[in-house]
Amino acid sequence: MSKICTRCLLKDLSKEKYEAIIVNGLSSLPKEDLTSDSESAGRLSICKDCEKLNQGTCLACGCFVELRAALKAGRCPYNKWQISDC
Ligand code: SF4
Repeated sequence: MSKICTRCLLKDLSKEKYEAIIVNGLSSLPKEDLTSDSESAGRLSICKDCEKLNQGTCLACGCFVELRAALKAGRCPYNKWQISDC
């Protein structure tokens, strides 16, 4: 049974869904389009403190934050990631 947690990422809620949606989704993208692991982790730490995070998705845009945070072109709709964008 999956946990319900509004401030959790998908990887914290369901290993199966994380593999199917996030890992498979990212594996289909060119590596040059992806952020470093540290950049993605920095963005996700901001999401985990955000009131818009709901079970791995962003209520502001509907995306899976783990996908968006891993993309160089990914942006937070409220520009909360700007402090970690270098
Ligand atoms: S993408 Fe931005 S608005 Fe959405 S959960 Fe993350 S920090 Fe919050």
